[in-house]
Amino acid sequence: MSTIETAEARERPHGIAAALTETLRGQLLSVGVLALVLIVLTVVAPGVWDGPWLWAAVAVVVVATGLAALGQGPLYDANWLPVLVPALDLLTIMLLLGDPAVPRIVAMLAVVPAFWLGFVGRRRGVWIVALGGVAMGVAMALRIADSAGTTRTANAVGAVLVPLALVAAALFADSYTGRIEQQQRALLEREREQTAMARQLAADGALLDTVFETARVGLLLLDPDGQVQRMNGTLAGHPALANASADAVLSGAQFLELESRQVIPKLEGPFVRAARGESFDNLAFWVERPGEDLIAVTMSSRPLIVEGEFRGSIASIDDITRYMRMLEDRDDFVALVSHELRTPLTSISGYLELALDEEVPADVRSWLEIVRRNTDRLRALVEDLLIVGEMSRGELHLHPHDVDVRQVAEQAVATLEHRARRRGVALRLADGPAAPVQADERRLAQVLENLISNGIKYTRDDGSVDVVVEVDGPDAIVRVVDDGPGIEAAEADRVFERFYRASSARASAVPGAGLGLWICRSIVHAHGGSIAFESEPGTGSAATVRLPLS
Ligand code: ADP
Repeated sequence: MSTIETAEARERPHGIAAALTETLRGQLLSVGVLALVLIVLTVVAPGVWDGPWLWAAVAVVVVATGLAALGQGPLYDANWLPVLVPALDLLTIMLLLGDPAVPRIVAMLAVVPAFWLGFVGRRRGVWIVALGGVAMGVAMALRIADSAGTTRTANAVGAVLVPLALVAAALFADSYTGRIEQQQRALLEREREQTAMARQLAADGALLDTVFETARVGLLLLDPDGQVQRMNGTLAGHPALANASADAVLSGAQFLELESRQVIPKLEGPFVRAARGESFDNLAFWVERPGEDLIAVTMSSRPLIVEGEFRGSIASIDDITRYMRMLEDRDDFVALVSHELRTPLTSISGYLELALDEEVPADVRSWLEIVRRNTDRLRALVEDLLIVGEMSRGELHLHPHDVDVRQVAEQAVATLEHRARRRGVALRLADGPAAPVQADERRLAQVLENLISNGIKYTRDDGSVDVVVEVDGPDAIVRVVDDGPGIEAAEADRVFERFYRASSARASAVPGAGLGLWICRSIVHAHGGSIAFESEPGTGSAATVRLPLS
């Protein structure tokens, strides 16, 4: 049976008394009281049995009791029965009072059926009592003339008091029953609501359990102390986690940045952040455990807040190791191919230069120039691919020394001036202060040249590219701003991804492989700086590099 008990279940009768209907119980009580009165009357005034009144009263009470007994069986559903039985009891007392030898005080016996009628018959019962009471009052009033002394007084007072007392008793029972019924209704209503709420909660709980257990991603419930409270089947059944609790797996584990593979400081670790109640999405990292292979994982977390109180966190964890291994395979392949292309390309370039140094017919020279341009593009692409490979494997070696960013920017502008002029683009370096930083000059120049080259490549014909170098607090800032067509914000968010090119770049003939900005970001991060790219369609784009001043 469910834990939700119903009102009916609790109200089920038990025991002999409970098995009798309320009517029969009430009637047996009345019969008992009446029997006592009759015994007393028989002892004190045996002459009362000479008249017809007591016999009539006994006949009526027998009928009433018989009906009440039938109410246990065939008349169980007769809804007039509970009212008729006390009404007959009232009649019984009226008949008793018909005998002049019966004392008037017996009228007080009528209070019992009057209450009873008020309880079961409600307003109807009150009317019956009023009728009976008035009849008794009138009967007593008629006797006033024949009686004398205290009997006369008793008849006079009784004529007024009996109807009033009986009606008052019935009214009291009626209103009391009304109040009880109202309270019962309110209680039942509340119980019904609570039952419905409990059922809803049980359904919600079952739904959550099902979702928790059927989710394909691993789900983890952490308490506010960071202890694992619960994990779903996906996580528990994970090959690397099988037969071990999450605590055992996570203790001694180190978390590494996805790209640089640098160790994430303990307090910045994903599980510590989740236990702190931070919200984050798709945080990707490597999990390194002693003696085990690395696992790549993405994790999202949300705090569990119940009535304003922090109760822990729910984290979803997805294993992306296979995906990362595929990316690594791709990178290895690209690195291998670019490495193999480099030597023949160097040879082609060398022999091309030799050929161009010779006296050759003009049309052959123009063909060779085209070959040289494309060979240069191919070499630049191969160089980019090799750098990407080096960086991905963490093999980027920097040789930092004191460098003035302004001077590097001047040289980059000078190198690219020729290309800007060819496109009719105005390339300007704004005046400003020196900005000394500790940097690998060759790599920094590569970053600035890449940003300026992008400005020239992607701006409109006759557009402009402005390079600004400034000092802002502890940082040196380089900004490359163009007034080209720009790209959508959603695309601008992705320009630092490897091989990403915006739709306009893919559709145009502008050469590129989508690696330049990824390389820039890796170099800037390796210098402890940051890089941002903003763009607005129709207005232009701005790339901003921030490096700590030396
Ligand atoms: P690519 O070799 O394609 O230039 P990058 O990594 O340098 O690769 O740039 C990635 C993409 O970002 C480009 O393909 C281009 O769509 C967009 N982009 C970069 N710089 C600008 C710019 N100044 N204006 C508009 N789009 C740009």
